[in-house]
Amino acid sequence: MITETPLVIEYLTDNSAAKQQQSWNQVLASATKTVEALLVEVAVPLSELNLRQQACVEFPLLVPQPFINKIEKGNALDPLLLQVLPQSAELEEAPGFIDDPLAEKHSNLQKGLIHKYHGRVLVLLSTGCAVNCRYCFRRHFPYQENRMNKNDWQATLDYVAQDPSIEELILSGGDPLMLNDQQIEKFISQAEQIPHLQRLRIHSRLPVVIPQRITKNLVKTLQACRFDCALVLHINHAREIDSVLISHLNTLKQAGITLLNQAVLLRGVNDSVAAQTDLSKRLFHAGVLPYYLHLLDKVKGAHHFEVSESAAIKLHHQLVSTLSGFLVPKLVKEEAGKKSKTPVPVMHLLPLKAGD
Ligand code: SF4
Repeated sequence: MITETPLVIEYLTDNSAAKQQQSWNQVLASATKTVEALLVEVAVPLSELNLRQQACVEFPLLVPQPFINKIEKGNALDPLLLQVLPQSAELEEAPGFIDDPLAEKHSNLQKGLIHKYHGRVLVLLSTGCAVNCRYCFRRHFPYQENRMNKNDWQATLDYVAQDPSIEELILSGGDPLMLNDQQIEKFISQAEQIPHLQRLRIHSRLPVVIPQRITKNLVKTLQACRFDCALVLHINHAREIDSVLISHLNTLKQAGITLLNQAVLLRGVNDSVAAQTDLSKRLFHAGVLPYYLHLLDKVKGAHHFEVSESAAIKLHHQLVSTLSGFLVPKLVKEEAGKKSKTPVPVMHLLPLKAGD
């Protein structure tokens, strides 16, 4: 995905807001953007540098410092590093791995709007992210064609207003929290004028990579709006959750915002019972409910992350057998053209055999 600089200055109204915005924006502005710099930061040898750089041509590297700080130094297989470090495998063709694995072009009905589920629409409020995750299913998405200006916002809201079956707005992207607080507040206040909208769901990975993105103003806006609000974080590994993130999430929780997580099952990152168990426990400790565990969407350039469906089912079965029910995320996959996520069938709960 193309990363763009968020528009921040024009909406700032007072100095304290400016300081808050500058804080996360400054972190974003100084994010690491080259393979070489990242490898130096994490003390990993510069092997395959040329191929890694080639993998960045279509999908650049981007990693903010707070996320780099969580990576174990000297460990080339660190599960956080693998999510952001380009690999030569991204250049390989793999059967079934394509540019638009969810066929979103068919539901991308107008600029910045995807309507594929009943009662919900997805608004691509931003076309950039604060981190580029190598497994991202939108890594080839035509963001340039979906970049919205304020008139397009209105067109999106007009679309929602004319369909009373739409009760929920899903803010996605890119990452919707790339917009500054004033822009988010403005969009929400416009959306509040649509009487049949009841819920607002924000999907974001930004708090995980720059926790200070959860500003007081953002919390205030979400708390004050008339919608039932949920923030869906995208956390794939327990080590992504540190004390700084927990303290920021606490402010959202205290404001009554529902916190959920959806993870992607990624080979080498979190495809073990231990990794998933730690993730679920850590999420709950942070006040976040494990919600979905997704099979990888088959996007071109990400085949090396794939975990087979049978292995995923087996892993999930072990989670069901050992964790409290509320700590077990639903195992799902997304299929092009389907009106909802598809639950991946869970094995009949027989006792596990040795070696399972
Ligand atoms: S933050 Fe989400 S949308 Fe952005 S690159 Fe990562 S997975 Fe893709």
